[in-house]
Amino acid sequence: MKIIVIDDSMTTRRIIKNTLNQLGFEDIVEAENGLDALTKMDGIQLILTDWNMPEMDGLTFVKTVKSSVAYKNIPIIMITTEAGKDDIIEAIKSGVSNYIVKPFTKAILEEKVKAIISN
Ligand SMILES: [Mg+2]
Repeated sequence: MKIIVIDDSMTTRRIIKNTLNQLGFEDIVEAENGLDALTKMDGIQLILTDWNMPEMDGLTFVKTVKSSVAYKNIPIIMITTEAGKDDIIEAIKSGVSNYIVKPFTKAILEEKVKAIISN
């Protein structure tokens, strides 16, 4: 399964990537923001994206992906510090399948990714 990890923090990307590797996922692509991610979508089967990023934020990225014929069916997990109820509702309405609030544990990431895959 090819997964893209989008976050403007290199450290956060590394943590997520390492956790996914430990869970057995080897094919991981990294992007610094939504705009960067849009150039790396070929073959992507799962999206893990941050919310707050320069150039193109996560919510705009989600809306762009969901309005794209080619990518609209790819499941998206948002990993964010935006834990407000309104933010979460907006993300879900925009097409996010699930969300994870930072800081997260390996168990939480595993649970959310597996829930998506088993769907
Ligand atoms: Mg960020």
